[in-house]
Amino acid sequence: MYASVIVEIGAKNVDRTFTYRVPSDMKSFIKIGSRVKVSFGKQLLEGFVLDLFNDIDSCDYEIKDIIELVDKKPILNEEMLELGKEISNYTLCSLISAYQVMLPKALKASYDTNISIKTNKYLILNCSINDANNYLVKCRYDGQIDILNNIINNKEIKINRVDSSVKTLIKHGIVKIIEKESYRYRYTSNNNDCRHILNDEQEYAVKRVCDCFNKSSTFLLYGVTGSGKTEVYMNIIDKVVNIGKSAIMLVPEISLTPQIVDRFVSRFGDKVAILHSGLSDGERYDEYRKIVNGEVSIVVGARSAIFAPLKDIGVIIIDEEHSSTYKQDNNPRYHARDVALFRCKYHSCPLVLGSATPSLESMARAGNKVYELITLKRRASGGSLPNVCIVDMKNEIKQGNYIFSSVLDKKIKEKLSKKEQIILFLNRRGYSSIYTCNTCGNVSKCPNCDISLTYHKSSGMLRCHYCGYAIRKYSECPNCHSKDLIDYGLGTEQLEEELVKRYKARVVRMDMDTTSKKGTHQKIIDEFGNYKYDILIGTQMVSKGLDFPMVTLVGVINADASLNIPDFRSSERTFQLLCQVSGRAGRSIRDGEVVIQSYNNNHYSIMLAKNHDYLSFYMEEMKIRKQLNYSPYYYIILVNIMSKDYEYSFSEAKKIGEFLRTNLSDDTFVLGPAMANPFKVNNVYHHQCIIKYKKDNKLRDTLIMLDNHYKFNNKINVEIDIDPNKC
Ligand code: ADP
Ligand code: ZN
Ligand code: ZN
Repeated sequence: MYASVIVEIGAKNVDRTFTYRVPSDMKSFIKIGSRVKVSFGKQLLEGFVLDLFNDIDSCDYEIKDIIELVDKKPILNEEMLELGKEISNYTLCSLISAYQVMLPKALKASYDTNISIKTNKYLILNCSINDANNYLVKCRYDGQIDILNNIINNKEIKINRVDSSVKTLIKHGIVKIIEKESYRYRYTSNNNDCRHILNDEQEYAVKRVCDCFNKSSTFLLYGVTGSGKTEVYMNIIDKVVNIGKSAIMLVPEISLTPQIVDRFVSRFGDKVAILHSGLSDGERYDEYRKIVNGEVSIVVGARSAIFAPLKDIGVIIIDEEHSSTYKQDNNPRYHARDVALFRCKYHSCPLVLGSATPSLESMARAGNKVYELITLKRRASGGSLPNVCIVDMKNEIKQGNYIFSSVLDKKIKEKLSKKEQIILFLNRRGYSSIYTCNTCGNVSKCPNCDISLTYHKSSGMLRCHYCGYAIRKYSECPNCHSKDLIDYGLGTEQLEEELVKRYKARVVRMDMDTTSKKGTHQKIIDEFGNYKYDILIGTQMVSKGLDFPMVTLVGVINADASLNIPDFRSSERTFQLLCQVSGRAGRSIRDGEVVIQSYNNNHYSIMLAKNHDYLSFYMEEMKIRKQLNYSPYYYIILVNIMSKDYEYSFSEAKKIGEFLRTNLSDDTFVLGPAMANPFKVNNVYHHQCIIKYKKDNKLRDTLIMLDNHYKFNNKINVEIDIDPNKC
């Protein structure tokens, strides 16, 4: 018997299977999808069996034996084997990388893992109850009597050490030790399962999806923030579990706050496995095993949870479907929604995409009836959407208000005096983003990247947010030795300082700097929820998923930051962000208010966010996309060209542009090459070409040719990004 085995070798150029002989003692155990150890050249590698067969015609290399079968059961099941091919095909990644991305570290085909299965020891009876009782009657030792009674009452007891009493009981054949797998991660909820009677809109949404169990239909659930989408998801999942099937619920990583996890755990208990980036490799492996062993039927997690090996899936739900975190931004560049579509087809089950601000692509598909649109128009709690006020910062600056406009200032004071809570959003961490010399204009920049260093006051450092480069803050200009240095560009650290100084408020900051330690994210949320603080400030992290009833004011300090990013989606992202952040206010009975500060207050993304007017925004933005031939009218592919050698990178980029223009159809557009933004990161220069196409029969072959051409070239890296996040 022979096996074709796919292995992972560092370079991306080996993407094929190799034939190995199956030793006779392995024949009855080895399966397609099994993980095996093989020797490859001089190396010892792990790989997956993709095929088994009895005869081979000829082979151009010497066939070796498989060295070892790593696990008792195959790691890749039939569905995963197929899905991997699909991903590799669609994203043009290697097949092995598609398989590796589906698995937790402990099960990947690689050598350096030593993540073990933890077990606990238990004592159970090794004789009949009668014999045990007879033994008890005769026994004169308290230690033994206690243990035996305990086992008889509880069937088993967990033990940490084997003392003399236990030894004696074992010697007499009364008890024995067994080992059971234990799971490291356990989330317990402190809250009660609080269910609501669904309103008509919610009821209808649940019914529509449940009517389509056993069909692979896709629904777009468009519901304003606080309209009760999560409640709808839980009701659908409840029904799925009741018919004996399983469910996957995806949320963006940053929404995986204890709050949402809590709602699921308090309703579904141990039926839920949670997968998020805060888990250790061991914990992740344990959660994965719970899923494989069929001990849970619901998986809640971020992007990669879409690969959860549940059997018999009854529904997949993707909350905040517009979120860019669902696309992996390194190889393999898969999109969780595409994987979900594949899996829903495979299991014949519905896919639900939910959002208060659906991506233009999804809304357009709903318009074309590819997806079924379901709308939740009202807030479920009965409250209204918060009142949004847009402030023109150009005027405020004239009055000397740089950070807080007079409106925001007044409202902060008002809420503080009423003992209500406030969330302030500022998408820039650190103290200040620019440190410059007043005499010669020299700006402190990263030597490896083309960006300025951010000043972090708490550590006294100037840091690069791209590559991690850091130096101590200097007090004399390195260029002209002047001591007249200033910093500007407000960051969260400075905002925190200002708030404390100005309002004497209790302020807590949530950004990457304050949440890097395990558990700190949860701690901040818990403490804010318990009213230990008046004001929560933060970056992206505070924009999603949080539900605090006492928050009645949300302030956006600088709404322009995301608008100024050169990307065709920057208006869409800004609109989504503003709606999302605003949605944190007034989620309970108290009305909420939102203040958005901006220098572009006439921009349609900002004006339409005022009235939470998604549909007008959609129409407006679609017009622009149509004019500029962008998605969803055209499909977009980004070709990234990266090299340490600037000249070489640019000349190859030009060749690539030409190559694409020559080889692709006439109605496909090729833009570039142009400098990417950022242009230089970690001493690597980035150029890019953009392909816009509707239908192009020559596309695939052309891209594969391009990919193959640069595979073996160490001086340059050419990456093809289908449906890029950034463009
Ligand atoms: P979304 O996910 O759309 O933001 P949620 O499901 O979080 O909305 O609901 C917002 C708030 O409304 C939550 O506090 C939730 O408990 C409450 N809620 C949801 N459905 C109902 C309902 N039918 N009746 C009353 N309150 C509800
Ligand atoms: Zn200077
Ligand atoms: Zn840098």
